[in-house]
Amino acid sequence: MADRQESIQDSKVDNRAAAYANAGPVYNGPVSHQTISHDNAVTYEVEKEDVDFQVQLSRLLTQTLGEKKAQATAIAALATGVLSVFLGMLQPQAGVVQMAPSSALLGTGAALLVMGILLWWSVKFRRTTRCEACRAYYALREVGEGQVREVRTSEGIRKTTTRTYRCSRCSQIVTRKVAEVVPGTS
Ligand SMILES: [Zn+2]
Repeated sequence: MADRQESIQDSKVDNRAAAYANAGPVYNGPVSHQTISHDNAVTYEVEKEDVDFQVQLSRLLTQTLGEKKAQATAIAALATGVLSVFLGMLQPQAGVVQMAPSSALLGTGAALLVMGILLWWSVKFRRTTRCEACRAYYALREVGEGQVREVRTSEGIRKTTTRTYRCSRCSQIVTRKVAEVVPGTS
């Protein structure tokens, strides 16, 4: 009864925050089986992702503030971080012979950027692992192996990874595809 399939197209850009937080590129599992079909497409399976650590980290970071406040804090931290780094780099050019304020600003900026990226990723992870059927957070868990399909194009290799998730609470099945083009391989 909970067999409704749902396909969500995600882009490489959307995974940027996750990649920063070391949750990123998901194509690093050992290849277990590979086939080459007549239309020059290569398909193979990759191991499912282990997300236990990500679940704990995202829970920890979003539970204290709540989702909305966590997102607002992420945006504020990123904006302040960019501004701090910008001002930190500008200082020497303005002829001010003070090294301390500059490195302090750069350090603060870097810390704010890391905090902002982590918070942003936490909110995004919390939402992507939520089951749409029963509304439970962190409920979707990958089942089986991920299917990768690679097709050679003029721009490079177009790689599509399909992963299947099952809700740990209501058993809803969700299928998600992530497509990316790996350039420079002709
Ligand atoms: Zn569910």
